[in-house]
Amino acid sequence: MSRSAHPAGPRHADVLTEGHYSAPPADLNSLDPKVWSSTVTRDKGGELTVGGLEVSRLAEEFGTPAYFLDETDFRARCRAWADAFGRDADVFYAGKAFLSRAVVRWLHEEGLNLDVCSGTELATALDAGMPAERIAFHGNNKSEAEIRRAVEAGVGRIVLDSFQEIVRVAHIAQELGTVQKAFIRVTVGVEAHTHEFIATAHEDQKFGIALAGGQAAEAVRRALKLDGIELIGIHSHIGSQIFDMAGFEVSARRVVQLLAEVRDEHGVELPEIDLGGGLGIAYTSEDDPREPHEIAKALSEIVTRECDAAGLRAPRISVEPGRAIVGPTAFTLYEVGTIKPLEGLRTYVSVDGGMSDNIRTALYDAEYSVSLVSRTSDAEPMLVRVVGKHCESGDIVVRDAFLPADLAPGDLIAVPATGAYCRSMASNYNHALRPPVVAVRDGSARVIVRRETEEDLLRLDVG
Ligand SMILES: *Cc1c(COP(=O)(O)O)cnc(C)c1O
Repeated sequence: MSRSAHPAGPRHADVLTEGHYSAPPADLNSLDPKVWSSTVTRDKGGELTVGGLEVSRLAEEFGTPAYFLDETDFRARCRAWADAFGRDADVFYAGKAFLSRAVVRWLHEEGLNLDVCSGTELATALDAGMPAERIAFHGNNKSEAEIRRAVEAGVGRIVLDSFQEIVRVAHIAQELGTVQKAFIRVTVGVEAHTHEFIATAHEDQKFGIALAGGQAAEAVRRALKLDGIELIGIHSHIGSQIFDMAGFEVSARRVVQLLAEVRDEHGVELPEIDLGGGLGIAYTSEDDPREPHEIAKALSEIVTRECDAAGLRAPRISVEPGRAIVGPTAFTLYEVGTIKPLEGLRTYVSVDGGMSDNIRTALYDAEYSVSLVSRTSDAEPMLVRVVGKHCESGDIVVRDAFLPADLAPGDLIAVPATGAYCRSMASNYNHALRPPVVAVRDGSARVIVRRETEEDLLRLDVG
């Protein structure tokens, strides 16, 4: 990802020569609607509110760190995706981004389907009442027990990820006296990240079956022969945090080519394709994500064009957004602790969480923004790095950002766009107690995943 370094703020302009930071925002108190959920605003006193509730009250009631999830925004995003894709396509929310029973119920109510990729994600979905036929089961190493559970439950589709799994699923389905609907996951030789996609000559990664070398065609051949499987489509997932549709274009073209090959060889037109997830969101003001209706239009045009060219009926399309639905709906609220100005460098602002509640910065070099939310400030901007309290120098939450220079211990700061891959990837490093997820809607807040307690941790430790 390329980011140009602009002159930094007035305080440190002379010494800053590298980094991801841009110029400080014109107004540090403004809340960019691109990165904050839809009901977030500042009240008259300058405090951030979500769903009409002030963060200081939320912090008092639920503690920090905590994730606050804007249910109104979550439901609106579900509807936007469902409406954009309409009746001729299926939207599967990727549960790995963040899954809880409340979320499953919202998805169900808003008409979305659900991707799971483990037996326990499946259990969560079923427990919360998601109809099994609306669940897709993913994973590169599903155990026999997981497959059995999925087939028994009657999941709508299993996405087959290897030659061995094709046989395993067919065998288990037959044993259970049923036929399992399935997709084959292929790797199309495209890897997409943010603003670029990379054509990969060979597929040096663990997911799926390569189109290259006729492997995917061979997988289709085998699946079509097995009684326990009804092959309904081809699946491709090309990456994450993608803004550019070019990668999807290549992916769709190659998947459609395979459909044409399958028709020519077997006289079968597979009725569906699944183009996966990976659609990007705004983590900072510099990101420009597309709206669901633009994505739906672009994907459907690409698929229609490729199918027309190949003389195929256009298949039913599925997509699997995770981040694009839940990511923008939540922020993490932290209390500021130690503040350490490093002369000529930047100011380190320590918060009461860190890599245990947001591993993405350390793991992917992800960029986030941050705001002072318990009050406004007219102080000048200072360049900060927001760090956690863990015993690791890579324990960074926000690598480069600007906060007001009068920031003080006890202030509340919030990192927006932490709905995806934060709580779901949270850890107990340093015996951190994983933060709660609090859903906020229309002036009321309720815990949907509670904070871990010392007791929870000690219970697991059986001495
Ligand atoms: C991770 C994943 C998704 C969701 O990705 P997002 O970036 O959250 O949209 C969808 N499908 C598959 C197969 C995945 O592995």
